[in-house]
Amino acid sequence: MRLPFNPSLLLALSALTLGQGVLALPANDVKPPPLVEKDFGNKIGIDFSKTSEYKKETDKAIADAYAACKQYLKDKEKGSAKGKPAVVSDLDETLIDNRPHFEKTPKFSWPGFEAWIKQADAPLLPKTAEFIQWARKNGFAIFFVTGRHEGLRADTIANLVKRQVAYDGLLMRKQGDGGGAESVKVPLREQIEKMGFTIVVNIGDQWSDLKGGHAVDCEKLPNKIYLVE
Ligand SMILES: [Mg+2]
Repeated sequence: MRLPFNPSLLLALSALTLGQGVLALPANDVKPPPLVEKDFGNKIGIDFSKTSEYKKETDKAIADAYAACKQYLKDKEKGSAKGKPAVVSDLDETLIDNRPHFEKTPKFSWPGFEAWIKQADAPLLPKTAEFIQWARKNGFAIFFVTGRHEGLRADTIANLVKRQVAYDGLLMRKQGDGGGAESVKVPLREQIEKMGFTIVVNIGDQWSDLKGGHAVDCEKLPNKIYLVE
């Protein structure tokens, strides 16, 4: 997988995996299909996001996320659910919709993207937002696990507050950490598990949000605007 821009400065990813170690849950790593780099790019991705295929993929992922949470709640009634339930979600192109920026910016640049983030005015992807709101009302802690670095924390929070997103934790890339998304996100999910949570759903728009285990259920949203390793 390769980005159309500097892979050391990656967008936010989130990952989901099943509990290991502390929670003794089965591993549930994902196996991404082969990716075709030529299928990615701002215009290709934005056009794709207006298709019925994009809607179908989104609807399926979100429906499966609800189903996984509902199964956990059933198991809890039976007394067989483990841990405190949590949902892990990525931010960019999972909850936060950056298409207004990409539509105006044919060529990606980090300074341009950070300037957009600092406006803290991005809209939300409504289906993810509704799912997260539903999950939180039904007892799931919401953790955002993002590849955005700590220097963007205040702006990221401002955007979430502006869009009235309720959540429980925002876990970010350390300042100066240029590692791949999986290497950033897996330890953050482990950290969530060590706090006693079972990550029931991990949802993201990149396979690197989901790889590496530490979630019961992983849901991949479509994104052909960019790839994040
Ligand atoms: Mg993302």
